[in-house]
Amino acid sequence: MKDQNKIPYKIYLEEKEMPKQYYNVKADMKKKPAPLLNPVSFKPMTAEELGKVFCDELVKQELDDTTAYIDIPQEIIDFYKMYRPAPLVRAYCLEEKLGTPAKIYYKFEGNNTSGSHKLNSAIAQAYYAKKQGLKGVTTETGAGQWGTALSMACAYLGLDCNVYMVKVSYEQKPFRREVMRTYGAKVTPSPSTTTQVGRKILEQHPGTTGSLGCAISEAVEAAVTRDGYRYVLGSVLSQVLLHQSIIGLETKTAMDKYGIKPDIIIGCAGGGSNLGGLISPFMGEKLRGEADYRFIAVEPASCPSLTRGKYAYDYCDTGMVCPLQKMYTLGSGFIPSANHAGGLRYHGMSSVLSELYDQGLMEARSVGQTEVFKAAEEFARVEGILPAPESSHAIKAAMDEAIKCKETGEEKTILFGLTGTGYFDLKAYENYNNGTMTDYVPTDMELQEGFESLPKVPECI
Ligand SMILES: *Cc1c(COP(=O)(O)O)cnc(C)c1O
Repeated sequence: MKDQNKIPYKIYLEEKEMPKQYYNVKADMKKKPAPLLNPVSFKPMTAEELGKVFCDELVKQELDDTTAYIDIPQEIIDFYKMYRPAPLVRAYCLEEKLGTPAKIYYKFEGNNTSGSHKLNSAIAQAYYAKKQGLKGVTTETGAGQWGTALSMACAYLGLDCNVYMVKVSYEQKPFRREVMRTYGAKVTPSPSTTTQVGRKILEQHPGTTGSLGCAISEAVEAAVTRDGYRYVLGSVLSQVLLHQSIIGLETKTAMDKYGIKPDIIIGCAGGGSNLGGLISPFMGEKLRGEADYRFIAVEPASCPSLTRGKYAYDYCDTGMVCPLQKMYTLGSGFIPSANHAGGLRYHGMSSVLSELYDQGLMEARSVGQTEVFKAAEEFARVEGILPAPESSHAIKAAMDEAIKCKETGEEKTILFGLTGTGYFDLKAYENYNNGTMTDYVPTDMELQEGFESLPKVPECI
């Protein structure tokens, strides 16, 4: 295998090489993401208003457009040491299988019990809640990765953890639910009768199996109506991208050590946190004019917020209680098809990534779930790791780019984020293996229904 005498299969950093600061890419953006708006007055959210929902330190991070580097508290670094630094892997076996001259690297974030990168932000958010003297946090979870990560972080810090889990997942995915309960979290299927908004949704849509947007509304209500609780969110927000910058910073340090410079950087995009985190230090260089890279966001064809959505202010949740965010969105009323198993089902996208995409600094493409699982299987068979369906969107795009290199003979360096493992997604793998997996692509008319749920925000903002 080429290069093997120069570059190891796995590049591990030493503990002392781990990042000590997060990097805030917004600081280097000339045109910043639009501010969060109050969903009633349409005025920019103040720190005081946000402080009713989120922890104070996280509000500060959310609103910070200017500080490039933010210290990682020692307690968080100590927790990171249990499962980081994460390896950067040279996919020698995949390269050989594809017969490509391209050099493929992936940053593997699945080496922790929650099985994904989400723990990187969960521990930070739980830490700031604890530091503020709060009793606990509330959140929503879809398939359960975020809830699992948060329950691990809360267990470590002794915080109460309340998770509203989308009902269909609660019923169909008992394993993650039980991991959460093992780590001490209280898990409630959403919509539930424990909140006003849940009761209202149940009244309007009896028998609904829930959605992420709806679970968010319940979790927010549960936080703001109880003393000593705040709401935490596992993706989409700028603060989450900030915490996830640890992925990109470690990757950059590892690559710099071996003089590797990626040409193309690829990540799957649900709410945008892993992709935002992976690309941020590289995007920073691009924004400052120091280097150039191609960035590719990969999303499911069944939930195509960047490739087919509108760039507009939208609600982050179905209950319309969260601040409005300007983002590429399908409308908070958009409900992705039930036969879509591959995750990444959120209707919107991080405002930071949305703005970078709108400025033409990042590309986006969508892929169908059957081809994603095909790529996942090929990858698993040669690289050994059983990838999460979400991560496999990035695998698919990386493989496509590597095959293009084979056709053109270009020796490009491709980096992608392998965000997690797929052990809890074997029902979807079963469908794929049985040949019963279907692809669903919403029609323009179906998307139009979602767009009609967009709020009418006055033009002047
Ligand atoms: C949640 C999740 C994603 C998508 O979330 P982003 O915020 O877009 O990163 C991707 N991969 C895995 C394994 C996840 O758990």
